[in-house]
Amino acid sequence: MKRILMTGALGQIGTELALYLGDIYGRENILATNRSEKNIEAIEDIRFEKLDVTDGDRMYELVKEFKPDTIVNLAAILSARGEQIPQTTWKINVDGVINTLEIARQENLKVFVPSSIAAFGEGTPLDNTPQTTIQRPSTMYGVTKVSGEILCDYYFKRFGVDTRGVRYPGIISYKTLPGNGTTDYAVHIYYEAIKHKAYASYIAEGTQMDMLYMPDALKAVVDIMEADPSKLIHRNAFNITAMSLTPELLDESIKKYMPDFKLSYDIDPVRQAIAESWPNSLDDSCAREEWGWKPEYDLDKMTKDMLENLEKKLK
Ligand code: NAD
Repeated sequence: MKRILMTGALGQIGTELALYLGDIYGRENILATNRSEKNIEAIEDIRFEKLDVTDGDRMYELVKEFKPDTIVNLAAILSARGEQIPQTTWKINVDGVINTLEIARQENLKVFVPSSIAAFGEGTPLDNTPQTTIQRPSTMYGVTKVSGEILCDYYFKRFGVDTRGVRYPGIISYKTLPGNGTTDYAVHIYYEAIKHKAYASYIAEGTQMDMLYMPDALKAVVDIMEADPSKLIHRNAFNITAMSLTPELLDESIKKYMPDFKLSYDIDPVRQAIAESWPNSLDDSCAREEWGWKPEYDLDKMTKDMLENLEKKLK
């Protein structure tokens, strides 16, 4: 990976990934694109162009002009928002992947497409969820993510396109707010801790979901894209995780640094139902064995960093 075109680059992951990749590969070698132009200051001096991923012609134009060797396709509508606009979610999440793969096939580019724990659902073993298992998601977002995984495998096997990817769990970060997913509570809890020393969780006590701190999510992209292909048995949709969290585990961790923090509950039935259909904990041994996945942040180390950084950001 040397020169990278990113889609959906103004989102929670993209804003941080653009700068992270820029620091490694040179800022002049990153082209950040997004449907909207909001928050371009977040990506500092990285070049930015408007691109709607459903517009394959425009994507191709930018590839011809910028000449990347890799496309990182992050553009997507996430789980909770996806249930409000399922048809649009299908169009953006799947057409975006197809357009990326078609251009990669024609121009011989590498591709990174993230999947999600949302790709699991009814029938999936929820504890220690295996790499390969039943995938019958109950959300349109999940349907698009399974489709993306299969399309990436198909383009590799059928056309030899160098596709790689991970299944991200919920990602926790302080720079850019998440885009209306189900695990967002685990980000909001830290913002509200700093602002009000209290948070009402829309996810119920005891509901387990996997999570990852942003620095580990960023490192995963570089590690898998730079991995020796001869060691990859899988290619796309590697399970990765750092911790399996519940609201009360977050509460306990925050109280270590802020003893007067108060957690209460105000359950959102839609997001609660989605959360219950997702794994409690992933088995990420394939990622560990095939490309050396190893997260650096556990819950308390992440909590300390989140609170310190949000304290600076919000006050
Ligand atoms: P986000 O919602 O914060 O950002 C997505 C970006 O895509 C936004 O900037 C949005 O404006 C843009 N976008 C939407 N429609 C577009 C279109 N038609 N054309 C171009 N851009 C468009 O999401 P994120 O958290 O940064 O997620 C990035 C990727 O990671 C997505 O594929 C998502 O499914 C995946 N993922 C994220 C998480 C997480 O917890 N954040 C977990 C699992 C997987």
